[in-house]
Amino acid sequence: MSVSEGARLLRQRLEMGGQELFLDGLSREQAISLAHAARAGAARASEVAGDRRAVSTRPATTQSTGDAASTGARADLPVLPDSYDALREVALSCTRCRLSETRTQVVFSDGAVDARLVVVGEAPGANEDATGLPFVGAAGRYLDLLLRSVGLAREDSVYICNVIKCRPPGNRNPLPDEIEACAPFLRKQLELIRPEALLAVGSFAAQSLTGREGVALGKLRGEVRAYGGIPLVCTYHPAALLRNPRWTRAFWDDLQLLRNVMDGA
Ligand code: URA
Repeated sequence: MSVSEGARLLRQRLEMGGQELFLDGLSREQAISLAHAARAGAARASEVAGDRRAVSTRPATTQSTGDAASTGARADLPVLPDSYDALREVALSCTRCRLSETRTQVVFSDGAVDARLVVVGEAPGANEDATGLPFVGAAGRYLDLLLRSVGLAREDSVYICNVIKCRPPGNRNPLPDEIEACAPFLRKQLELIRPEALLAVGSFAAQSLTGREGVALGKLRGEVRAYGGIPLVCTYHPAALLRNPRWTRAFWDDLQLLRNVMDGA
């Protein structure tokens, strides 16, 4: 079965009222390996797309991002550059919080800066820390498959980043001061990309983009919100769907909301 057939079957299954992911005749593991094949195709496509990622070649202005502080982030917020490439360069050498001491790589983003949709996740895990790319593990492959099922192929239409750009040790939850230290990067990223729509996956992304810290994800999902004038849909994290396939129905409903917004419905 091809990746597109898999995505089509998933869509049919959910349209018919299915509550969980499982494709006809496929286990969750098989579905994930199907999505893995989609990722291999996406990697080939993005090699061809090459320089679509850059919006500007203007070099970074002189910029201090502060020193790592063992107790957390510096209080002063950096003035970040207005060029995407320069912003990325500043982020890649950031030492604003303790996570810079334990990371292997800063995970800034994946996808073209002219993408229609920006997906915001929580923080890099081990695979992301090793590769420098967001959502490359099992949760990422699952996300790719689900997005593809509503016609949003990662390689064509999606830019992905996280609230936190460096891996929290042992995949612990990001701490409030780490989120605060990294927030200017996400704000600037979104300001420069200005996509048609935003999808926040998981509580940390949903709370950060709605500004409603401490509010349960169940209360933030299920409707279209806005971030800086950009339509925003909040939903479950794909890793949570892998643990609780029953939430796939709600995720799918949120994707329909997103699709309607992007189709101008
Ligand atoms: N989970 C996230 O939230 N982001 C990633 O990049 C990977 C897993």
